[in-house]
Amino acid sequence: MRFNTSLLHGEYSADQGTGATTVPIYQSSAFAHKTAEELEKIFKGSEFGYLYTRLNNPTVEALEKRVAHLEKGLGAVACASGMAAITLAVMNILQSGEEIVSTSGLFGGTFSLFTQLEQFGVTTRYAKNNKVQSFNDLINDKTRAVYIETIGNPKLDVSDIGKLAELTHQRGIPLIVDNTVTTPYLVQPLAQGADIVIHSTSKYINGSGNSIGGIVIDSGKFSWDFAKFPTLREYGKFGPFVYLAKLRKGLFKDFGACLSPFNAYLNLIGLETLGLRMERACYNAGQLAGYLQNHAKVGTVNYPGLDDHPDHTKAKQQFLGRYGGLLTIRMGTKENAFKLINNLKYAANLANIGDTRTLVIHPASTIYAANTLTEKEAMGVYEDLIRISVGIEDSEDLMEDFSRALSKI
Ligand SMILES: *Cc1c(COP(=O)(O)O)cnc(C)c1O
Repeated sequence: MRFNTSLLHGEYSADQGTGATTVPIYQSSAFAHKTAEELEKIFKGSEFGYLYTRLNNPTVEALEKRVAHLEKGLGAVACASGMAAITLAVMNILQSGEEIVSTSGLFGGTFSLFTQLEQFGVTTRYAKNNKVQSFNDLINDKTRAVYIETIGNPKLDVSDIGKLAELTHQRGIPLIVDNTVTTPYLVQPLAQGADIVIHSTSKYINGSGNSIGGIVIDSGKFSWDFAKFPTLREYGKFGPFVYLAKLRKGLFKDFGACLSPFNAYLNLIGLETLGLRMERACYNAGQLAGYLQNHAKVGTVNYPGLDDHPDHTKAKQQFLGRYGGLLTIRMGTKENAFKLINNLKYAANLANIGDTRTLVIHPASTIYAANTLTEKEAMGVYEDLIRISVGIEDSEDLMEDFSRALSKI
């Protein structure tokens, strides 16, 4: 089954009872069982069944199965948000005193989370660039995971998933990849050797910006050394499901950051058109990047699809000639950046990406306002920078909108 077909037919077919084509919303907190014996078995784990929506739910499960299928994973756990997914994905394997090695081109929320984790004794070290050697230099006997983004948001640098997976496996630790910006339409990190993938489904998977959600997908292939990851040992009986079993029965259940069935439904509806939306967003972003690159009032344009992007060749090969819907531009001054944002008609000025609509934001004064100058620059954020999440409008209208707004500067 090919990608666009999987979006509609993968791991779910029409409701057996009624023939309903969309997944029913099981808006129920708990699920009743006929006998006390049955419920005892489900609680014990010797029989499968739905218990309570904080643990599992049929609508949420349909989303988990479909995304796991698209990402070529063994299974998935859907969470209340992308941040919940990242928190749970790393905390599932880390203990106080241990470390994460991370890319420096990191989403602001994740950087903030890794800073918060210091109060629980977890240290994060940031690779100075995205070369494999920079990650290798920081891995020590306390490191328990390497964390990267496929395309850094908003640095837009591209990591080599296959090479980093080789490195982390040599060092006995998993590679965790945030695939929010590229989605499985551009790349399936697990197929390239990564071990765990996370998404903020709030972005391209949902697609229309109507609900917050996240998901953790596991390949089931990493061979966990229980001496190094002792908290996984008691779940060893679940075989390849060890990571997912610990997650669902452990922190996911106890943190309570579950996805609501209604939001799972909205994500499932959005997911059906992921391929079409990504194809259009990638095309539009390429058109807009080319247009802005040749505009006298725009400084540098950062888009992995441009020939002069430092990671262009890597992106071309890894994402099969597609480069995503995000680009950034530098306007020379903060004033010019603000003027451009204020004069755009279609592009909405807000803190989100991956919507059907084109979105813009000035990251330095918003998402990254609390960071120091050095931190900002490490994450690719400058005072004159605008991030653009290109939507699925007609590209001619987008270029006209930018042309009009730029003429007022
Ligand atoms: C938005 C985003 C997140 C966080 O997701 P939420 O759903 O907002 O919690 C994580 N990673 C990336 C790359 C994002 O863009």
